[in-house]
Amino acid sequence: MQCIDFRFGKKMKEFMEQNNLLGDADLVSIAGAAKNIVNPETQAFALRQIEISKDLHGMKQVILMNHTDCGAYGGRKSFADDKVEYEKLTADLKEAREIVKTKWPELEVKLWLAHIDESEHEPAISFESIA
Ligand SMILES: [Zn+2]
Repeated sequence: MQCIDFRFGKKMKEFMEQNNLLGDADLVSIAGAAKNIVNPETQAFALRQIEISKDLHGMKQVILMNHTDCGAYGGRKSFADDKVEYEKLTADLKEAREIVKTKWPELEVKLWLAHIDESEHEPAISFESIA
């Protein structure tokens, strides 16, 4: 589950290729990604996407990916600093993992945080695995 953000298009394809996911993973794009699992108002919809993938395609692993400067979180500017943003995004990822694991203990859940650095001419994107 990833955000809708277009800035990831090319890099996400590379990420999926490098992790042998391209052509082998259902892709759920929702603005704010893991935020939707944590938020009670959107949780049922977000979990339903996972359930459909699981039932339809026997999916065994869920990858939850949040990213910095996410508009669904109000963007980078809505946080006091990068550290506060990082902690919120990773806390939501971990809480979302707990929610998914509680519902489906058999699923493996991996967490990633994508960093966007827009100080360069073209946005630089890097992926960090979250334990
Ligand atoms: Zn986003």
